[in-house]
Amino acid sequence: MSSPSTATPSRPRRRWLRRTALGLVVLVVVAAIGFFALAPGIVEKGMNQHTGEPVPDVGEEARGLHERLLVVDMHSDTLMWDRDLLDEGDRGHMDLPRLEQGNVALQVFSSVSKSPKGQNYDSNTDDTDNITLLTFAQLQPPRTWTSLLERSLYHADKLEDAAERSDGRLVLVRTRADLAALVAAREDGEQRTGALFSLEGLQNLEGDIDNLQVLFDAGARMAGFTHFFDNEVSGSMHGVDKGGLTDLGREALAEMERLGMVVDIAHASEAAVDEILDLATRPVVSSHGGVQATCDVNRNLSDDQIRRVAATGGVVGIGYWDAAVCEATPEAVVDAIEHVIEVGGIETAALGSDYDGATTVGWDTSQLAVITQELMARGHSPEDIAAIMGGNTLRVLDEVLPG
Ligand SMILES: [Zn+2]
Repeated sequence: MSSPSTATPSRPRRRWLRRTALGLVVLVVVAAIGFFALAPGIVEKGMNQHTGEPVPDVGEEARGLHERLLVVDMHSDTLMWDRDLLDEGDRGHMDLPRLEQGNVALQVFSSVSKSPKGQNYDSNTDDTDNITLLTFAQLQPPRTWTSLLERSLYHADKLEDAAERSDGRLVLVRTRADLAALVAAREDGEQRTGALFSLEGLQNLEGDIDNLQVLFDAGARMAGFTHFFDNEVSGSMHGVDKGGLTDLGREALAEMERLGMVVDIAHASEAAVDEILDLATRPVVSSHGGVQATCDVNRNLSDDQIRRVAATGGVVGIGYWDAAVCEATPEAVVDAIEHVIEVGGIETAALGSDYDGATTVGWDTSQLAVITQELMARGHSPEDIAAIMGGNTLRVLDEVLPG
């Protein structure tokens, strides 16, 4: 085989080689910029969807009542995505401008630190993780590439940074005093939205109870024990073994109650939910989900679980996405809310959207008045609607948060 000039190439050939190499570098750089600039948006658009069904018009009376409410949403995964909370986005389900349009007084922002590939409601191992790829694609700091604790601390920083840049429009809620100040400001007609940081699964403890204090210090005031897989603290409803709490889990529960963090049973296995409700001495919440009576999906609560959450003085946050209520309509959401009221009492009903949680919803947070309108249409009193839309959750927070 003849090899063309293994010695010094001729001048035109050298020029050609240089040009080709330069061309390749430019191509790689352009492709990388394209990937890092576009991929996060494309991925998010594919994950956080809208049904495309028309959103009901909201009449003047319902809008009037909605504007007077203190609305609280117990769960959103917006911090996972590469967006500025202060900018109104053209993707996903929420950001500060849309929370303001929807008159949301307090939003709970959750930290998702790990999510298995092919995530499903029935059975997932902890062997794979989608969030790792997201940390690269979104150019997150290297400390978040491998550490689940660092991922949650990064989410906490992101929320704190948005609050700092917001000119007082977004305020962190970490104590009962913060909560009281938020309510007072809103009752004075100020444009102020509260933000409470929460954890979706305690896999971010990385097996070390001391990390709970680290996360509390970073602002975490609510936590679920598991996400989609069994972890060091508890079995998940969507795990393989679906076991109860571990010793570390029982320790975490006691420590959360001591610190002033709300205990959340969302995603926990049936055995773990039983155990949490046996051991809890403070109000317990189900931050986001549905009820089996109106939508028979394994993650949704049985009547017995609703009764037991109610007995702790806690609340059940109803989500708006198809898998929680089986049909992403205001009617289906209010059906689930009414079932919670029937079984657990009016003081147990609450909201937990799961916006931006890889969910498909019928309306985003700017259009939340559709729920108020549906509750009115069913004949609920303004007092009861105020309790459901946020009053009940404010009561729980006022009871659990540190002073
Ligand atoms: Zn969730």
